[in-house]
Amino acid sequence: MFAEVLLSKVSPDTDKTFTYAIPERLNDRIGIGSQVVVPFGRRKEIGYVVERLVSSNVKGIKEIIDLASPEPIFSEKSVKLARWMADYYLSFFLTALRLVMPPGLRQKEERGRVGKLVEKGKKGKQTEQQKTNTQTSLTTQPPGTKLKLTPEQQTALDEINQSIDDNKPTRFLLHGVTGSGKTEVYMQAIAHLLEKGQSAIVLVPEISLTPQMVQRFTARFQDHIAVLHSELTLKKRNEEWQRIVSGQVQIVLGARSAVFAPLKNLGLIIIDEEYENTYKSDKSPRYHTREVAFKLAALNNAVVVLGSATPSIETYFRAEAGEYKKIVLPKRIDDRPLPPVTLVDMREELKAKNFSVLSRKLQLELKETLDKGEQAILFMNRLGYFTFVMCRECGLTIECPNCSVSLVYHSGAQEVRCAKCGYAAELPKTCPRCNSTSIKYFGTGTQRIEDDVAKIHPSARILRYDRDTVGKRGSHEVFFSTFAEGNADVLIGTQMVAKGLDVAKVTLVGVVSADTALNLPDYQAAEHTFQMLTQVAGRAGRHHLPGKVIIQTYNPEHYAIKAASTHDYEQFYRKEIEHRRSLNYPPFSRLISIIISSEDQKKAIKTADDLGAFISKRIPTGVLGPAQAAIARLRGEWRYHILIKGNELRVIRNAVNESIQNLVIPDDVRVTVDVEPTGMM
Ligand code: ADP
Ligand code: ZN
Ligand code: ZN
Repeated sequence: MFAEVLLSKVSPDTDKTFTYAIPERLNDRIGIGSQVVVPFGRRKEIGYVVERLVSSNVKGIKEIIDLASPEPIFSEKSVKLARWMADYYLSFFLTALRLVMPPGLRQKEERGRVGKLVEKGKKGKQTEQQKTNTQTSLTTQPPGTKLKLTPEQQTALDEINQSIDDNKPTRFLLHGVTGSGKTEVYMQAIAHLLEKGQSAIVLVPEISLTPQMVQRFTARFQDHIAVLHSELTLKKRNEEWQRIVSGQVQIVLGARSAVFAPLKNLGLIIIDEEYENTYKSDKSPRYHTREVAFKLAALNNAVVVLGSATPSIETYFRAEAGEYKKIVLPKRIDDRPLPPVTLVDMREELKAKNFSVLSRKLQLELKETLDKGEQAILFMNRLGYFTFVMCRECGLTIECPNCSVSLVYHSGAQEVRCAKCGYAAELPKTCPRCNSTSIKYFGTGTQRIEDDVAKIHPSARILRYDRDTVGKRGSHEVFFSTFAEGNADVLIGTQMVAKGLDVAKVTLVGVVSADTALNLPDYQAAEHTFQMLTQVAGRAGRHHLPGKVIIQTYNPEHYAIKAASTHDYEQFYRKEIEHRRSLNYPPFSRLISIIISSEDQKKAIKTADDLGAFISKRIPTGVLGPAQAAIARLRGEWRYHILIKGNELRVIRNAVNESIQNLVIPDDVRVTVDVEPTGMM
């Protein structure tokens, strides 16, 4: 017997498997997923078995020396998933394989410490106790109180359950307005699945921002669910992994990496708010969780449900094309109305000499809301949250010495910091260009809102929620519960407050600046703006008290803002899809983005030019750039950008891959490839 072994070494030379013979004495203990010690050159190396073969015609085959870990580390399906990721996203196989390894081993792998693991591990050993627990099934004790579904919810549930029963890897888009009861549908589909002895993965954009959803799931499924918080210690994460492998839990709830949880009998994957950028990994392999989920579901004949009020343009397009079954929940529970939205043109405020960040209309509504003893959320885009340090004489914005981004003023520490590389310095007293002492800075955007609210309503209890005020472990939850329990009147925050909050007394939502994301050089700018506005508006009037939304904007005519003001996804989609078609952007084309970076600017330019030329030879019309990247310098490195556009992903991916293989890349130049990028690099 033979084994294909992938060495625990990341380099282009070892990004392939090597064939070894399996010695007789290890024959029934070595299988796919085994961690083994093998001879390699004159050394011993650790590797992973990714395939077993009955014969091989490779010459001079050496034998596996020993097992490095008694139990397999990953399953055959996990290998397939990793292999697929490496091919699709152009990463090393090992880098992809690490994602499906237990957390402790994965961390050792990523730190390059697995070579030192030759002393035999205890990993993977199941205790007798755990083995018995595997047999426990939910039908002994049915999960918590189900709500009686509305007819629309029932129809949605029936369709999903039907596909579960048919064992078909059907893909659903559950398009339901905010507060339409999607979460209840998820939970009842899972309950159905558990009765059949199957398991489910539930993915959310960011676990710490969805405490209410976590509470609802844990209340309903209790011991059967593992919640994979990013805040868990490594020890705890390993324990959870073990509970999942051993079958003690059948449901995993977590952010994107939870898609790699080693559940057996996977029957259902739910992705809530699939349009969120957090689903795209920012490290190699730069995978999109949705695509990984589809692949995983195909390997398991599992059902995938994408649920959102604001599906991504791409997803909606695929649903229209029949790739996904579309289920619609058009109304809120109990026919509660979606809150009416008023657009306020901020140019008029300036004309009326109102220099507050709050318009007259928003001030008035805020007063009424607070007088009635109700609650308000004031929202500001993350991008507007920072305040830059500027010279009033010459207009210079002070930049980070390592990155081409402006430094940000932090009032707490009385210093300026770089949000990209962490550089910090004392506040400059004079302008580095003109020596003027007229340096201007404010607090963060959210601080300004807080100041203005406090001026208008001195007695209001204000809770400001941003990077300055949140950060410690568990503090998200404390914030959310303080507000949810009515111990604050006004919640002020960035994107972090837009998600998941379901508080009965919130009747006013104010968007302080709707436009900040609109002018970015990003083909998804309008889409992100629409999604953000619709989601944050969806926080108002979710229960018996009717809600209101005020959106402050300098672009009241923009289609993304107009459509958000009428909660009209269809209208937005129609406009946006035509826009994409006319510019040949996704979903009409496929993109690959490449960043070439180096501290040595000349080498970066040369490599970018060479790479651009190589790719152009293979696909003459699809190469844009090289050009300076949107962030031209980062952590001391110069950055150049090439964008590849094509109709077929396979074709442009091969062109990029071959070009990189053939290019001599200097040691101090990095080439980063992002297949199907979201946002800017
Ligand atoms: P979504 O996930 O679509 O935003 P939720 O599932 O959070 O919606 O539901 C919104 C609110 O309505 C929640 O407070 C939820 O408990 C409640 N709800 C959901 N389904 C029902 C139902 N069938 N009957 C009564 N209340 C429901
Ligand atoms: Zn100056
Ligand atoms: Zn910096």
